[in-house]
Amino acid sequence: MFTVNYHTHTARCKHASGTDRDYVQFAADHGFKTLGFADHSPQCFPGDYYSNFRMLREETEGYFSSLLALKEEFKDRIDIKIGFEAEYYPAIFRDLLNFLEPYPCDYMILGQHFLNNEYDHPQTPARGSVEYIYAYVDQVCEAMRTGYFTYLAHPDLPWCDDYSPEYFKAMEKLIACSMETKVPLEINCLGIHGSRNYPYRPFWKLVGEMSAPVVVGLDAHDQYAFTLTGVFEEAQRIIDDYNLIYTEPVLRPLHTK
Ligand SMILES: [Zn+2]
Ligand SMILES: [Zn+2]
Repeated sequence: MFTVNYHTHTARCKHASGTDRDYVQFAADHGFKTLGFADHSPQCFPGDYYSNFRMLREETEGYFSSLLALKEEFKDRIDIKIGFEAEYYPAIFRDLLNFLEPYPCDYMILGQHFLNNEYDHPQTPARGSVEYIYAYVDQVCEAMRTGYFTYLAHPDLPWCDDYSPEYFKAMEKLIACSMETKVPLEINCLGIHGSRNYPYRPFWKLVGEMSAPVVVGLDAHDQYAFTLTGVFEEAQRIIDDYNLIYTEPVLRPLHTK
C-alpha cells in the first residue's frame, strides 16, 4: 500500500486537529516511510483581510521549529519533509515566495480553492458553471508553469452543474499542462473519506486515457487519516480501474530556487 504522503495539515490551519507529534506517531506506526507536512500556507494579504482556514504568518516560525525537532527525533523511523499547500494568488504570489525565503521549505503543493486572489473571489464566475471551470484551469495552469509547485492537489475539486463536454474540454487542457510542466495530479483521500464530489471518476478516466502521472495524497486533517485502509484501497482501485501511472512526488525545494 502507500508508504509516502506529502499532504498533511496541522492544527494551525484552524480546521485540523491533533498535535504535530500525533501525526508523526500515527504515520510511523501505520507503515509510512515518508511524511510530508503541507499545511495551508500563510499568505501576505493586503489590508486587514483575514482568512480563517490557514496558518498565520506569525505561526510559520513555530511550524518549522516544531517539525524540525520531530524530524530529528524520528529520523530512524520516518523521513519528515516540511512544505505547504498553497493557493496561487497571482497578485501576492511573489510576496509569499519572499516571505518563505528564510525558511527551509522542502516543497509546495498547489491547492486552489479560490480564484483570483481570494479577497476578491466574488468577482469570479459562479461556482458550478463551465466558465468557473475554465477560469480555474487557466489559473492553475499559470501556477504550474511557475515551476514552484511539486504537484496539484485535488485537481477535480471544482464541480460543474452538468459536467458537459465543455467540462472535459477544459480538464483536458489542465491534464495536458500537468504533463508538459511535470506537475502530477493528486488523487485526494480526504475526498474519498468525506464522500465529496472528488475524486470524480470520469475525470480520472480521462487522466488515464491521456497517460498523465498521478500521486496519492491523504490530505490528513487529523492523525486517524493514516489508519483509513478502506480509503487507500479505493484510491488504489481508481488507479487500477483507469490504468493510471502512479508516481511518487519529486520535490521542488524553495530554497534552491
Ligand atoms: Zn484543509
Ligand atoms: Zn489539504
